[in-house]
Amino acid sequence: MPYSYDDQNIFAKILRGEIPNETVLETEHTLAFKDIQPGAPVHVLVIPKGAYVTFDHFASEATDAEIADFTRAAAEVCRMTGVSPGEGGNGFRVISNAGPDGVQEVPHYHLHILGGKVLGRMLPNLKD
Ligand code: AMP
Repeated sequence: MPYSYDDQNIFAKILRGEIPNETVLETEHTLAFKDIQPGAPVHVLVIPKGAYVTFDHFASEATDAEIADFTRAAAEVCRMTGVSPGEGGNGFRVISNAGPDGVQEVPHYHLHILGGKVLGRMLPNLKD
């Protein structure tokens, strides 16, 4: 079944300027902003401006220009927030939840960039 995009999701409203956000970086095809309920000292969400639901939706249907812009913007967020090991930072984790099993709350593709503390094991409850 092809993806269908719900344009009433909260990130679509942020992109339309209907609700505020704490912008970290904006580029032609990408917006990065602070998560409203941070799970770590650094917790930034990176979203494409296009109407994509999940990672695989974006990776298969976005233009090369959108994918390049998004990927470079995510790297720039790592640099700006000081977590990039290549810039002397202590590291980070990138997460992208998709669908019910991925426990995705907002159906607009996004990366979580988390850092600023040791984040623990990736999937502590894998056997649950
Ligand atoms: P996910 O479960 O991967 O879909 O994550 C959605 C994330 O969006 C959660 O970490 C929320 O805290 C975050 N979130 C929800 N509403 C907002 C908002 N208005 N501004 C910033 N972050 C938000």
